[in-house]
Amino acid sequence: MANNLENFKFKKKFGQNFLSDVNLLKAIVSDAKVSKNDNVLEIGTGAGALTEQICAVATKGKVISIEIDKTLIDFLTEKFKAQKNLELVFGDILKIDAKTIAEKFNNEPFRVVANLPYYISSPIIFYLIESELKVKSITIMLQKELVDRITASVGTKDYGALTVILNLYGKVKKTRNVPRTLFTPQPNVDSGVLNIELDPKVENIREVSKVVKACFMMRRKTLANNLTQNLGLNREQVQTILQEINLASDIRAERLSPQDFVKLTEKIGEIKNEK
Ligand code: SAM
Repeated sequence: MANNLENFKFKKKFGQNFLSDVNLLKAIVSDAKVSKNDNVLEIGTGAGALTEQICAVATKGKVISIEIDKTLIDFLTEKFKAQKNLELVFGDILKIDAKTIAEKFNNEPFRVVANLPYYISSPIIFYLIESELKVKSITIMLQKELVDRITASVGTKDYGALTVILNLYGKVKKTRNVPRTLFTPQPNVDSGVLNIELDPKVENIREVSKVVKACFMMRRKTLANNLTQNLGLNREQVQTILQEINLASDIRAERLSPQDFVKLTEKIGEIKNEK
């Protein structure tokens, strides 16, 4: 087992669908904009195929790769024994605190590359963007439909809270589709690669995120209804706010751009402070 994965039992509970196509793996590293001096955090080492390509590019940086499955310890340790700039960490990313990760990178900025089970993708994205970690970018494999939702345009049915919030944290781009046939074992869904270059320009971003989530809570209702029911504002206050930022009284949340939500949050703050 230490030298090969012939008898390896893929574990569904850890979302183990591995990649091996070298061209695709190289393309993902390039999508992640990894360069020679970059520090990189990889989440979900698996058989180390992507790790290998990351290490081949980030030769002057530090690479840390985290894997939850301890049955991979012998195989990965043997495979990477000569890889001096790589540190393998065996544990659950959601249980490793941000401080430990920051210290491993000497508090320097780093890029994140991850091909993870889809059920933990959203918590991980939020953990990374909301922590104090110096994350430069996140490049993550997601279910294709989720990538399409996150990169949707204003006014489309896919445009939602996640789209708005991630677009406020940085520049969001779908870099490629990845068909299910490229994974072993083959999953039931196609995937896509999402790249987020983090560059938050909004000061009160957490406050804006709360407002965005509240506004999309009842998607089929108007923005005004969501504001009254989910943020405790009265009808009069809502009408004043909408008028002041030139929004129609019957507008729905999916018609508002990320910048509109920033203005909306400011106005809500002003009105609440007037009380
Ligand atoms: N990077 C490899 C590749 O591209 O072939 C493996 C990808 S596989 C989809 C996801 C990997 O993440 C698995 O090896 C799985 O064991 C690991 N994993 C799942 N949950 C994890 C967690 N909470 N923390 C760290 N690794 C996790």
